[in-house]
Amino acid sequence: MQKFDVIIIGAGAAGLFCAAQAGQKGLRVLLLDNGKKAGRKILMSGGGRCNFTNLHAQPGAYLSANPHFCKSALARYTQWDFIDLVNRYQIPWHEKTLGQLFCDDSAQQIVDLLLSECATGQVTLRLRSEISAVAKTAGGFELTLNGGQVCAPQLVVACGGLSMPGLGASPFGYRLAEQFGLNVLPTRAALVPFTLHKPLLEQLQTLSGVSLPSRLTAEDGTVFNEALLFTHRGLSGPAILQLSSYWQPGEHISIDLCPQLSLDELIDSERLTQRNLSLKNCLAKALPRRLVEVLQQLEIVPDVSLKQLNSKQQAALTETLHQWRIQPNGTEGYRTAEVTLGGVDTRGLSSKTMEAISVPGLYFIGEVVDVTGWLGGYNFQWAWSSAWACAQAL
Ligand code: FAD
Repeated sequence: MQKFDVIIIGAGAAGLFCAAQAGQKGLRVLLLDNGKKAGRKILMSGGGRCNFTNLHAQPGAYLSANPHFCKSALARYTQWDFIDLVNRYQIPWHEKTLGQLFCDDSAQQIVDLLLSECATGQVTLRLRSEISAVAKTAGGFELTLNGGQVCAPQLVVACGGLSMPGLGASPFGYRLAEQFGLNVLPTRAALVPFTLHKPLLEQLQTLSGVSLPSRLTAEDGTVFNEALLFTHRGLSGPAILQLSSYWQPGEHISIDLCPQLSLDELIDSERLTQRNLSLKNCLAKALPRRLVEVLQQLEIVPDVSLKQLNSKQQAALTETLHQWRIQPNGTEGYRTAEVTLGGVDTRGLSSKTMEAISVPGLYFIGEVVDVTGWLGGYNFQWAWSSAWACAQAL
């Protein structure tokens, strides 16, 4: 039986960062992962450039049954702390949009940073580790692995959520929480594209690849102003991914296809100078032409000139284009979701240390916990902040 001070399950963002911090405190740390590479999601993130944090990270950007839970960790290890670390490694980065910080070159640099921090902390990293049993003993926790048994007085669960099973996602963390009597809140795919019902899907499929600025509103009133993308399966793009976290099956979403400009005003002003202009050509000044053509096929845009468009038609048209109500069929699910909503109930954890209140020595960090961020670097920031808070307590 090999003994350690801490065993961490999951060498993703949270596990790697926590292991490094704990190791650098002088603790003997074992970091386990069932994959053959550490930080697989980091490598895939941000289109290969890793959106590693957000300048505007703050508790309001996180969903949780207890919205206060994330406050302490986010305040104690902030986006500025992680930016300092990235700067110390001289990794060039840039702000893309809305405070989202990306590596200029490659997400591999963030993984290398984390591995180098782990090496400084003399962390033992064991990949391809299959954990078949976890038992509580008087001295802490005993784990049965392929290749022997290991034990430690402290166990950190950092095995993430269910999104992207192809990248190693598993329900292991939730099952472990349940094994130790913790409550696990229902999970749901989030930051995920919407699929559409048949007739509408077929009508919109020719728009696959078309993107435009939009303003999306969920039934609970949550609003996002970001790009919308039509795909061959339905709707995607940052605005849709964001809204998916606030959407429940059966609900409608409202899409403003032209949030930057009043289409009423555009039509009125164009009519003053070009009465014979077709409505289609007028709208194409503000919207992608392919979209206008499809909306005409759907009879949302009448095939008339501006002088023929009567006020009733104009009111109905502009209302639809600024508040297009669509009922998604569903989401693409965990296969393509960036994160998982729900998870280990924060009511059973200390917000200061991430330790299970009823099981001293057992900690949960990162995505396995019921804290889910918006799109844009917020989820990695939660991984860094929760990992740091936990490491201080180990
Ligand atoms: P993970 O990073 O998922 O790590 C969990 C680890 O546990 C994995 O390595 C897994 O192999 C391991 N594991 C699972 N089960 C077991 C088991 N039974 N035994 C041993 N090990 C196990 N967020 C952002 O903030 N910015 C982005 O740019 C961004 N882009 C993303 C792109 C994609 C394609 C995806 C899928 C997600 C993206 N996210 C992004 C979300 C972000 O990746 C996650 O929120 C973050 O990785 C969560 O960190 P974690 O350490 O909790 O879990």
